[in-house]
Amino acid sequence: MRPEELNCLFVETDALDGVGPKLRRPLEKLGLTRLRDLAYHLPDRFVERRVVSDLDQAGTGENILVRLTVREHRASSGRGPYRVLAADDVGNICALTYFGRASYSAKKQLPMGEARWVAGRLDQYGQMLQIVHPEHVSETSATPVGQLCEPVYPLSEGLTQGRMAALVAQALTVLPELPEWIEPGLLAKQGWPAWRAAVLAAHKGADGAARDRLAYDELLANSLALMLVRESNRAQRGTALAGDGHLRAKLRLPFALTGAQRRSLAEIEGDMAQAVPMLRLLQGDVGSGKTVVALSSMLVAVEAGAQAALLAPTEILARQHYETLRKLLEGTGVEIALLTGRDKGKAREAILMGLVDGSIPLVVGTHAIFQDSVAYRNLALAVIDEQHRFGVGQRLMLARKGRRTPHTLAMTATPIPRTLTLAQYGEMDVSRLDELPPGRQPIDTRVFPAERMDEVAAALGRHIETGQQAYWVCPMVNESETDDIAAAEARYALLRERFGDAVVLVHGQQRPEVKDAGMERFAAGQASLLVATTVIEVGVDVPNATLMVIEQAERFGLAQLHQLRGRVGRGSGKSTCLLLRGGALSETARARLALMRETQDGFRLAEEDLKLRGGGELLGTRQSGDTPFRIASLEQIQRLLPMAHDDARLLMEHEGGLTTPRGAAARLLLYLFERDWGVQLLRGG
Ligand code: ADP
Ligand code: MG
Repeated sequence: MRPEELNCLFVETDALDGVGPKLRRPLEKLGLTRLRDLAYHLPDRFVERRVVSDLDQAGTGENILVRLTVREHRASSGRGPYRVLAADDVGNICALTYFGRASYSAKKQLPMGEARWVAGRLDQYGQMLQIVHPEHVSETSATPVGQLCEPVYPLSEGLTQGRMAALVAQALTVLPELPEWIEPGLLAKQGWPAWRAAVLAAHKGADGAARDRLAYDELLANSLALMLVRESNRAQRGTALAGDGHLRAKLRLPFALTGAQRRSLAEIEGDMAQAVPMLRLLQGDVGSGKTVVALSSMLVAVEAGAQAALLAPTEILARQHYETLRKLLEGTGVEIALLTGRDKGKAREAILMGLVDGSIPLVVGTHAIFQDSVAYRNLALAVIDEQHRFGVGQRLMLARKGRRTPHTLAMTATPIPRTLTLAQYGEMDVSRLDELPPGRQPIDTRVFPAERMDEVAAALGRHIETGQQAYWVCPMVNESETDDIAAAEARYALLRERFGDAVVLVHGQQRPEVKDAGMERFAAGQASLLVATTVIEVGVDVPNATLMVIEQAERFGLAQLHQLRGRVGRGSGKSTCLLLRGGALSETARARLALMRETQDGFRLAEEDLKLRGGGELLGTRQSGDTPFRIASLEQIQRLLPMAHDDARLLMEHEGGLTTPRGAAARLLLYLFERDWGVQLLRGG
């Protein structure tokens, strides 16, 4: 139950004046459904305006607030703008210029002969001073001080700055005073305001201390929640598994394990031998060999007479894992089953029976394997592939599966910087596969401007003629899914014109059967070119595919590009990756693509990317997909997260946790940031 003093913040935005069904959508698009969200909808920047009485004292391009007296309305002949000529206090004339329908408001707001405050950006048009589309026109009874510094909010279609500011202002009227959860010494040292004051200040002006405090709150909430998960895990009963190695000995791998694989396996085995359930992340670049590590770990469970399950994020990956593991298991006599949401009928019943009676020791599948209808005799290890696609909630669902909590091994190929690892996986121990199997050839990576598409297509044609396969990746950005799909379809049509039946298309909005059929044709070598949106991002393994073309490469994150590129270079042959870029690129965008050319070390890419982006460009546009945070910027995460982590530990391990007065305040914080599953966990015991 949410503490009562927070209820006012969790009222839906519908309750606000002026929010009806029409505004609901654009607000939802920004993730703003409750007053809390509006209060935390912080401005990207502020427009500051100077009051001037003599326009000669203002520079062109300057944002000003000036009192003008209306002298003349000048309608245009034809399609030109509507102009209102007005004079400042010393008689300088300025044109207020309106295009299109904006002239209606000009006629209403600027009556002849009257004085008005006008806010806007001063420029010059020929010899004339002008303000195009003034941002505000107000009566002169009072100086509009609110316009001296105005927030600029992130918007979505259907919203204006004025509307957003009014909604935020309404939300801010309900802010309660909340007790302090930040350690008092730290708060004093940083000179941070209290919570309510900080929220108010952050909307009022560029206030670094206020913004830092709010970012810190978010980071602290996250650290606390992760610590609670960790703590509750420690209190769970798992099964100590000691494998005798007899099954692993029967695995006939065509290669020797790398040092990193052996080290990681030793760490995993060590954890599984304990009764406290393992919570471990296996972090390893694409191609670093996570699959055999997973398989060996699963065999430890089977050797100890228990069951293990591998959870994949998509149907395609589940099938692929199943095939890989089945082949590797030949000769061990260990049975493995595949269970996905699409399996129905008798076959499914048989698998469910096998899991209940324990005759099936290993299962691979999508989240279907953890649905309520699926029961296990003795599930002791859950391996979760591509961890970042699963939330903490799903991890918890897993923990509740048996009488005993299974050991959890999460795997991810997303290289993230160390600081973010702490933020995202702070509750887990980490094993890193930081060494690739020997004999991998570097992927020859090149950047081309999109105008040279024809050359690229010609090279692609020569490549296919040699009997090798290729990927063509079209960008996929959530905001305009349909447009992206349309672009992918158009590209597919063009490539098909050129290469005929050899081309297949796979994208996220196809029916699963269609998608799988396409993937299978490509995997079986019946198609030479796979045109895809980013559904091929994770895990797909076709060694004969040695060329990848990525369109509009600048629209992808570096980690994503890196993962995509990892789809080629799987065999022993030489592989190539061609990055097509748009015309007008920022310097950072150029630097990022250059980095792709330069290195193939995912961890290094991640660190450098963070540095580049910390430099500025993307700071304003929060990339929520990259981090679990909405308020804290990448720069703030790097600077404040270690502090938040220490503070959380101090509170939980030395001060008595959530039971002290500061702890009670911290509980509010967890609810405020909706890390309340952390609290629920504790209560659940
Ligand atoms: P990922 O970490 O991306 O899941 P995989 O487990 O799919 O990587 O391994 C990539 C490829 O490398 C597979 O073909 C696998 O058989 C091979 N491989 C794994 N470990 C080794 C090793 N120690 N030596 C040589 N090849 C290996
Ligand atoms: Mg893999």
